[in-house]
Amino acid sequence: MTNEPTASKGSKDSVGFSTLCVHGGEDRVKPCYSMTDPIFCTATYTFENTASLIEYVTKKLPREEYGRYGNPTEKVLERKLAALEGGEACVTFATGMAAIVCYLIAKLKAGDEIVLFDECYHRTRQFCTAVLGRFGIVTHQIPACDYEKMEAAINKRTKLLISESPTNPHQSVVDLERFAALGKKYGVETLIDATLATPYNMRPLEYGIDCVLHSCTKYLGGHNDLLGGAIIGREETIEMVRKMRGIMGCGNSPHAIYLLLRGLKTFELRMQRHNENGLALARFLESHPRVEKVYYPGLESHRDHAVAKRYMRGFGGLVTFLVKDADAHATARIVDAVKIPRIGPSLGGVESLIEQPIYMSYHDYTPEERRAVGIYDNMIRVACGIENTADLIADFAQALEK
Ligand SMILES: *Cc1c(COP(=O)(O)O)cnc(C)c1O
Repeated sequence: MTNEPTASKGSKDSVGFSTLCVHGGEDRVKPCYSMTDPIFCTATYTFENTASLIEYVTKKLPREEYGRYGNPTEKVLERKLAALEGGEACVTFATGMAAIVCYLIAKLKAGDEIVLFDECYHRTRQFCTAVLGRFGIVTHQIPACDYEKMEAAINKRTKLLISESPTNPHQSVVDLERFAALGKKYGVETLIDATLATPYNMRPLEYGIDCVLHSCTKYLGGHNDLLGGAIIGREETIEMVRKMRGIMGCGNSPHAIYLLLRGLKTFELRMQRHNENGLALARFLESHPRVEKVYYPGLESHRDHAVAKRYMRGFGGLVTFLVKDADAHATARIVDAVKIPRIGPSLGGVESLIEQPIYMSYHDYTPEERRAVGIYDNMIRVACGIENTADLIADFAQALEK
């Protein structure tokens, strides 16, 4: 896998993925001949004289003006992410949520409608229904991967089809060609939040999806030490979203951008281990007598396994499972018994994390609301880091013995 010549399934890139991770988007000669792209810690950029300012505004020269509109290190990051995703252009944000909010505000007006698969990131769903709803934008939530219901919900006012893939924590995987075809048939833009897949495992643009969104906080940054977001797509769309970012002021800080660029250097290596650990843990759990069910798209038992195999190179580090005959307390004892993963939200970092969704993201839901979205008392979500595979398996083996 490591030295395969193409960047991903179906890719037309001439260099391998890890070469893009290390060098993609970067100038060969950097400021002051620095090896790394420096941090420009400045809020404003100055002009030599009035003539140079006039030249900048009239010729729209490619330089910086004010921190809210951009930063030189960010431009490198955006080129690298566009290269990894195989897209024309990229715009980055302070967080993944800033990216989705800014994109939706840039695109939509009162009377427009969104159709989304309901296993969306809960804050995305909340923003669409509770906030955009106040501005006269209607959101239709469709059961994940029900393409017929999605098509039936499309009408003349529909502006966007949105899904996550894979979804969290159930790991439903979208048939990208089918999803893109729906958008094309009705002239509606499609957006996939591919945070859980990453461009290493899946590249939606190659299958006709219009825009890809990432929370860079997860695998792309990869070290649980920064927040970030990105949208990749056609130049025209990205420039429109970038203008809105300049108004909303939700770009990232120079320091976080630097860390993200640094993290991306090892992105392929990290993803290979995340994929190995995820698959190994999923297989171990599936064969364990105390486990009722495992949600992992790399397992034959997963509903969307065939779709996942078609679109994904690997299946990531996230593993969700149900403990057999366990209530919330018995399940919590397993969470508390593991020694390597820490208890916490998020995923995609080098350190493994574990959580019980009823207490983490869904604590403010009623039991009925939780059951309606498939969140159970005996559910555990593990975000495998890049630790030694055998150590992780041994840790879960001892925790499940208790
Ligand atoms: C974490 C996450 C987000 C939000 O990203 P932040 O960087 O936390 O704002 C959006 N979508 C998915 C799938 C995520 O996992």
